[in-house]
Amino acid sequence: MIAMRSLSAAELLGAWERGLTQSLIQRAVELLSVVYPEASLDCLLGLSIGQRDAELLALRERLFGPEMAGVTVCPQCGGRLDLTLNAAEMRSACAQEPEAGLALSVAGYELQFRPPTSEDLAAALDFDGADEARNRLLGRCLLSAQRDGATLRSDELPHEVVDSVSDWMARADPLADIQLAVSCPLCDHHWQAAFDIVSFLWREIESLAARLLRDVHTLASAYGWHERDILALSPVRRQFYLALLGA
Ligand SMILES: [Zn+2]
Repeated sequence: MIAMRSLSAAELLGAWERGLTQSLIQRAVELLSVVYPEASLDCLLGLSIGQRDAELLALRERLFGPEMAGVTVCPQCGGRLDLTLNAAEMRSACAQEPEAGLALSVAGYELQFRPPTSEDLAAALDFDGADEARNRLLGRCLLSAQRDGATLRSDELPHEVVDSVSDWMARADPLADIQLAVSCPLCDHHWQAAFDIVSFLWREIESLAARLLRDVHTLASAYGWHERDILALSPVRRQFYLALLGA
């Protein structure tokens, strides 16, 4: 991908407003289309989920810095745990270009597949039920399946073969499914917690949008300035005027 451009306050509010009626998958693509205006929608939808999430981690770093503070709940004792994550470390720990086509031999089956993209996920989520969605995803990402020279469809594969393909897809595109090793200091329980950069970043964008709109309200009420002009101020100047107002 070409260099990521920065997001102005007005663009951020625009992306947030459009995202209100969008799914999480669409929000992710929407954010990337603002910072990569030259990239076509097809190109953004065609990124593997791991590539997409690497871009979103980079965007998070640019907007809010690398340190990410999260909260999780221990499944054993119900205690709340504060987690500190680092977007830059997460990106480099999983920095592996996903391969376009992957081959796997399992239980006599010869399989070729590719890692799923946003477009695949969106198509799979149109189906009810986790099994149905998984089969649909496999159907889209399976390039070929053969056994004893005969070509098979994805719905003709046994469960254990489908499981192996799912594992391989996750390993081939490591950022697509980030699992954090968490241990509870209260009860010493250890578990794996999934981390989803799309919902994490979206929550932060929601709070930032709410804060920007409050700031616009305060400054517009005091000075009579236009929303466009207030958003065009640098964050430092906006904060300075807010401080003068005691807000
Ligand atoms: Zn616990």
